[in-house]
Amino acid sequence: MLDADFFRRWLTVTAAAVDREAERLTQLDSPIGDADHGSNLKRGFTAVAAVLEKEAPDTPGAVLILAGRQLISTVGGASGPLYGTLLRRTGKALGDAPEVDEARFAEALRTGVDGVAALGGAAPGDKTMLDALVPGIDALEDSFGAARDAALQGALATTPLQARKGRASYLGERSIGHQDPGATSSALLFAALAETAGAAEGTGGAREGDHG
Ligand code: ADP
Ligand code: MG
Repeated sequence: MLDADFFRRWLTVTAAAVDREAERLTQLDSPIGDADHGSNLKRGFTAVAAVLEKEAPDTPGAVLILAGRQLISTVGGASGPLYGTLLRRTGKALGDAPEVDEARFAEALRTGVDGVAALGGAAPGDKTMLDALVPGIDALEDSFGAARDAALQGALATTPLQARKGRASYLGERSIGHQDPGATSSALLFAALAETAGAAEGTGGAREGDHG
């Protein structure tokens, strides 16, 4: 079962990953955007980690709603309201249950992804974060590890696509040949989820023994 602490740790691990990858996310946003995706998300997730520590919400739903609200209020770019909606909608779908199982979480996250699609009007294939989020939730029915892998594949597969939504779409065909920054950060969210779940389930053994 997944409790409030699991979700707090997921978002804290995400904040650390975003911090580590911020420069790369901004570099990806340079040829097909305005070179701010890394700094946008770094500001947002740093604020998320801080508010979760300060307010310590005690249900999964409350953790995700607070985090989503924080992203919406601190991130200026398109990705702030989109990721904010993802987390808020997911949190709302979880209601006030003190713990949720993986199937219920996967279902709630799908509601969140539907919210992103509704807000941004994008569909898979438009070269946006949905190209990682949708394969990610589809694979989440199997396992957290499968979701991480599918989201990463989805992000990599945005390179040959032409952007049809967001700032990158202004470039038309010139958006082809570049990996989408938002899909890349969405893959980070799923990687952080798998990392958090691995630790929770004690399946991180391979890494514990790895001194490389
Ligand atoms: P901005 O484009 O306002 O500078 P960011 O750079 O933070 O915002 O985020 C850009 C990312 O947001 C894109 O790479 C894309 O994945 C995602 N994005 C932009 N518009 C949409 C949309 N309408 N639907 C889904 N995702 C979108
Ligand atoms: Mg940008």
